[in-house]
Amino acid sequence: MAETPTATFTDILAAIKPAKANPKPGKLFINGEFVDARSGKTFATMNPATGEVLTNIAEAGAEDVDLAVKAARAAFEESSPWRKMTPRDRSRMLWKLADLIRANAEELSELETLDTGKPIFESSRFDIPLAAECFEYYAGWPTKITGETIPNTAGGEALVYTLREPIGVCGQIIPWNFPLQMLAWKVAPALACGNTIVLKPAEQTPLTALRFAELTLEAGIPAGVFNVVTGFGPTTGAAMVEHPGIDKIAFTGSVEVGKEIMRTAAKTLKRVSLELGGKSPNLVFADADLDTAAKYALGGIFFNQGEMCTAGSRIFVEEKGYDEFMSVLRGRAAKMVAGDPLHPKTRLGALISAEHLERVMSYVAIGRGEGASVAVGGERIGSRGYFMQPTVLEGVTNSMRVAQEEIFGPVASVIKFADLEEGVREANNSEFGLAAAIWTRDIKKAHRVARSVKAGTVWINTISTTDNAAPFGGYKSSGFGRELGRAAIDLYTETKTVWVDLNG
Ligand code: ADP
Ligand code: MG
Repeated sequence: MAETPTATFTDILAAIKPAKANPKPGKLFINGEFVDARSGKTFATMNPATGEVLTNIAEAGAEDVDLAVKAARAAFEESSPWRKMTPRDRSRMLWKLADLIRANAEELSELETLDTGKPIFESSRFDIPLAAECFEYYAGWPTKITGETIPNTAGGEALVYTLREPIGVCGQIIPWNFPLQMLAWKVAPALACGNTIVLKPAEQTPLTALRFAELTLEAGIPAGVFNVVTGFGPTTGAAMVEHPGIDKIAFTGSVEVGKEIMRTAAKTLKRVSLELGGKSPNLVFADADLDTAAKYALGGIFFNQGEMCTAGSRIFVEEKGYDEFMSVLRGRAAKMVAGDPLHPKTRLGALISAEHLERVMSYVAIGRGEGASVAVGGERIGSRGYFMQPTVLEGVTNSMRVAQEEIFGPVASVIKFADLEEGVREANNSEFGLAAAIWTRDIKKAHRVARSVKAGTVWINTISTTDNAAPFGGYKSSGFGRELGRAAIDLYTETKTVWVDLNG
């Protein structure tokens, strides 16, 4: 591990190819400018594939958060250029941001892969283009956010109508697993509705958010509308949640922090939306196309090294189909090799950090201790970077910790079930309710089970797909509020009811 961080963004990219941009490492983005943290403090962001420091990042303290909030508040004043902008012009700006993401896609993919350890195949095919698509989707919304006229049932003559207004300053706190995509899911709808933003990327992965900040300047987003404060959760993040000038917190991350945010936000009665963890069941019935189900089950758990809140981490297999399904799953999982995330052929990258690798690995031991067997994988790969073998645990029962706790890594827990009733009961026997997948050729069974499963997203004969137009969020401890689609417009607007007396 390098002792002193020296690389700049330019160096990082130059190591791969001539850099196209310099996204100002070591700076915060406040009021349209890249500035140092008041304290002058910085911290390092690492490349999980090598364990080396990529560059220095500014560490925002409470005073920097305050400056960002003040800038966002000023940009939200009714007389501000942003608030006076027509919906059509906001729409154009969102589309312009999408264009700029696309124009810089190669560089953004490289930054994302360097910072997260995810395969470049994934960042260039999914993370970056899907972020652009999210801005394109929400570019269509500003001109379509409308209120209603309400029939007056109270007697007398009145005109009653509603207005949808932006909430104000939105604090957005995002995780490290899909950095630019999580930014897009939060920033695009918030801007579409006319809010202003203070965004905190995860401390492990701040690079693409800073580069995106530069793109907002190029797109002509007025100063103060979008601000980035880099730093740690308990300091920078907590300062946002405490700050009385922030009207809403949108958070994606762990259940523990989600609860903490709700408690703190209660003091200033901030609006809160939370997208938290998952332990999603992937229910495979014996009458499914078992070959396809097994192939997709691998993507469901091993995509992004399993670092996904929707990961299909509990694979329930009906006894009658178990051997056939598992022979495909085991065979294919054993053939997956982790490699250099920047190599275009790599399909499995590095886990985010040494601590996280250790935590994920500890679950292999926990599973063994509980009586599960390691059918595939279970070991760390090499000693440089944080790579781990795709791991399949068999003989798991749903009450084991490896079936109840979110591992957030490439570890699948396989559980046998006897019949539909047992499968659904056990699938629902979980603290979480983010997503579920169902594999069967029986259309009635598929829809019946879809209704019975307590999850915000249910996939039938597919897994892990999302669409910018389709609402996404959790039941139970997986959080509340729905992002994406029209649902996010509700998350980022207040409804105002206006009464006009028309009597006499
Ligand atoms: P993970 O365990 O996957 O890193 P976290 O919930 O810890 O997930 O982090 C998700 C995001 O929340 C990150 O941006 C992190 O910095 C931030 N965060 C962590 N703790 C707090 C906190 N107490 N208050 C506000 N934000 C926090
Ligand atoms: Mg990093």
